[in-house]
Amino acid sequence: MSEIRKDYVKNKWVSISSNLTLKPKDFPIMKVETSSAPAGFCPFCEGNEAATPPEILAFRKGKEEPDSGGWLVRTIPNKFSAFALAGELEEKHIGLYRFCNGLGKHEVIIETPQHDTDFHELALERMEMIVSTFKMRYNALAQDERIKYIQIYKNRGLFAGASLAHSHSQIIGFPFKPGENDGLPQYYKDQGRCLICAILQQEQDSNQRIIHEGKYFVALCPYASRFAYETWIVPKRHTEHFGRLTEAEEKELAWFCKKLSMAIVHSLDNPSYNFIINTAPVNSLYEPGYHWYMEFTPRMLVAAGVEVATGVYINPVAPEDAAPILRESWDR
Ligand SMILES: [Zn+2]
Ligand SMILES: [Zn+2]
Repeated sequence: MSEIRKDYVKNKWVSISSNLTLKPKDFPIMKVETSSAPAGFCPFCEGNEAATPPEILAFRKGKEEPDSGGWLVRTIPNKFSAFALAGELEEKHIGLYRFCNGLGKHEVIIETPQHDTDFHELALERMEMIVSTFKMRYNALAQDERIKYIQIYKNRGLFAGASLAHSHSQIIGFPFKPGENDGLPQYYKDQGRCLICAILQQEQDSNQRIIHEGKYFVALCPYASRFAYETWIVPKRHTEHFGRLTEAEEKELAWFCKKLSMAIVHSLDNPSYNFIINTAPVNSLYEPGYHWYMEFTPRMLVAAGVEVATGVYINPVAPEDAAPILRESWDR
């Protein structure tokens, strides 16, 4: 059976096949190769700090000097970024074309000094440092009036867009708000309530797509999943900005990230994946209806022609079939 489902958050349609005709091992995608040593020089390895721009923030074992070894989680500017936080946003036109300068900030969070330790293998304590780093850098970037949206994300593996194998995530401060989550303020305008809170309520009632419910968060495969085994981590407390999460929530989110990344790697045969944090715009006119949440998207298939052409995603695994597979691995 197949269904076309509406994704109200992204304002897109998704074609979903059910009955799990494709098992995790049936996907043709290459596994992520985890090598024990870097093939060439790796600027993210401990001892190579001089090869990166000066660090912005680091969790350290002791009181070592900045840009020396002994760090646990290290944040640096992205050397290859098109963004620089200088001057003001300027828009220009050439005939009918429109462009602006690359005003913004792009940072890299190196999640471990060890080259061969993957994200899902990190100790819970390290995961907590990474979540704390996300929050600190989010709140620091939000201080700059010129930044309107803060995107935290991770690319793991070639099919998710990772160019370096050493485990890292990234954060970009954009000078404009991307339209990806415009469905949230629109739903609030139309219905007078938060769409994410409403989704959470319905998912808890039906209990078909929930992987795990904690004290502060719920992990679920969303109704209109665009990707096979797509999973959201949703805070139960209505919170617009990621930067507002409490210390207790930080700790539980770190645990959810550890459990979910382990479940994805182990039950789906080591695929590439992305995670992204969706949140409300900053330094912009207030619009109610945003509710931050985190998306993990395994990249089992490459976008096909119809997705490029129409924006309609084709997902061969229904979220009702995906959730029990991930839940089994989570609970193991
Ligand atoms: Zn490395
Ligand atoms: Zn809400």
